[in-house]
Amino acid sequence: MRVNVGDLLADRDGVRVLAFAEPLPAAGDDLAFAEPVTGEITLTGTAGGVSLRGQVRAVATCVCGACLKRFGLPLTIDVAEDFGPRSVHTAAAAGSRLGAAGSPSVRGPAGEVRELSAGDFLVPVDADDMIDVTEVIRQHVVLALPIAPRCREDCPGLCPQCGADLNDGPCGCVPDAADPRLNVLRRWRA
Ligand SMILES: [Zn+2]
Ligand SMILES: [Zn+2]
Repeated sequence: MRVNVGDLLADRDGVRVLAFAEPLPAAGDDLAFAEPVTGEITLTGTAGGVSLRGQVRAVATCVCGACLKRFGLPLTIDVAEDFGPRSVHTAAAAGSRLGAAGSPSVRGPAGEVRELSAGDFLVPVDADDMIDVTEVIRQHVVLALPIAPRCREDCPGLCPQCGADLNDGPCGCVPDAADPRLNVLRRWRA
């Protein structure tokens, strides 16, 4: 979903509320999205820029790191991104240099040096006044995903001896001396 925000760039009090409902592409073999990502996005005109705020819901199809089964992980994600017009961004970048203290700084309109603030890292709006809302949401969703997903908090995983899924009940193996990892642990404790 690409949105023309030319009117919001011109009107600092302008507000536009969008219903977002789009499928996201899979992110690698182990992660897909079972259904479209949905939510509500509010675009607000700021002083020469646009602020994007909203909340979306997604169901990520992940692979459990313990039992290797695929499962659906529902997520609710807050989205926040600030866009600035290209000209402001370029001016800040051109004037940027390291300050005396070594911290990043820019030269202000009156030639004064000040430290970089969040405003200097605004995402520029495309030259045609377009914002790619889907890309903003995709980045927030990917960042919200757990690094090591579990199908449930106490997933027992697979039996290290026979490979059975212990979610289906005990496999009958005796988890004793047969597992060399336990021997290592025993030596360490002795
Ligand atoms: Zn699991
Ligand atoms: Zn087993």
